[in-house]
Amino acid sequence: MVARAARATDLADLDGAVSDCFACPRLVAWREEVARTRRAAFRDQHYWGRPVPGLGAADARIAILGLAPAAHGGNRTGRIFTGDRSGDVLFAALHRAGLANQPTSVAADDGLTLRDTRIFAAVRCAPPDNKPTPPERDTCAPWLHRELTLIRPTLRVVVALGAFAWAAWWPALRAVYGVRPTSPRPAFGHGAHWSGTAAPDLLGCYHVSQQNTFTGRLTPEMLDDVFTRAKLLAGAD
Ligand code: SF4
Repeated sequence: MVARAARATDLADLDGAVSDCFACPRLVAWREEVARTRRAAFRDQHYWGRPVPGLGAADARIAILGLAPAAHGGNRTGRIFTGDRSGDVLFAALHRAGLANQPTSVAADDGLTLRDTRIFAAVRCAPPDNKPTPPERDTCAPWLHRELTLIRPTLRVVVALGAFAWAAWWPALRAVYGVRPTSPRPAFGHGAHWSGTAAPDLLGCYHVSQQNTFTGRLTPEMLDDVFTRAKLLAGAD
């Protein structure tokens, strides 16, 4: 799988290869189990039940790094942050920022396109309780690192959604850019900003999970501030 990731020549090739990954037994079992049993509201739908590739522009200046697909969101629809409440919040914000052509993301064929932006997760399969293990994160890392390598020529800013994504950035920084992070590593926080000379800037943002958005810990205004800043840093208008 590491060799397959390294061989991917472009994003389409990478997306296809990711979708066919079976490297993590626990996650493979879970994604397939969820796809088999389904949630009552989606009983009549066919679940994707596979790893979920990245989404968006090949010449992205801004990357949004999430944790992992949702069991009944990306794992159902086959597209990251699509068909769940987290995606509702994220794509509404991206649309307000001019980075998405529509404010919703409900299905893989709904016409959504992104501008200057690519979205992907640190772990590509839906994990039980939204909690991948450290070995699963490390096993999946070559997909993330290859994706970053492929968009490296234009990439200027990475927005890390939550502490897990923030932590996944540092090994990527080393693997893709050859930059050793400072020790101790910069702490995650909403609005945290790490700036590297030979690598994209990193912005921290609370995850768009219901836990954060329903409680008001993360508001639409806070998301707007993050994406305004990301666009500024990326030189995207
Ligand atoms: S989490 Fe990543 S490495 Fe593990 S099976 Fe899914 S795509 Fe493969």
